[in-house]
Amino acid sequence: MNKDAHLMIAALIGYSIVEVLNIFWSNYILGFNARFLIIISSMFGAILPDKLEKPKSWSHRKFFHSKTWGAAVLFTGFAFSNNPYVVAFCSGYLSHLLLDYTTRKKLNLFKAIIKK
Ligand SMILES: [Zn+2]
Repeated sequence: MNKDAHLMIAALIGYSIVEVLNIFWSNYILGFNARFLIIISSMFGAILPDKLEKPKSWSHRKFFHSKTWGAAVLFTGFAFSNNPYVVAFCSGYLSHLLLDYTTRKKLNLFKAIIKK
């Protein structure tokens, strides 16, 4: 998956988080800066895996694209679920892993299932 696709999907996720908070969580009256930062957090999360493991070849997907690390990110998202910036970052990161799964090379995450 290319960087622009990751960024677009992450922006959409960040925007969805902003809207969900505005609609369902009246504790959060988000100003422009907060909304902007949530979307940026999500986009940053979405490009980070490929910043940590540069996509020079199809085999670049190692630890930071792995099931273990994805679970750690998911756990972090739940642990800080009262912080929309952390949730947005983790959602963006996980969206990267999910989108990479849709590519030809897949991820370590599903290799065990696919290898059959
Ligand atoms: Zn990637």
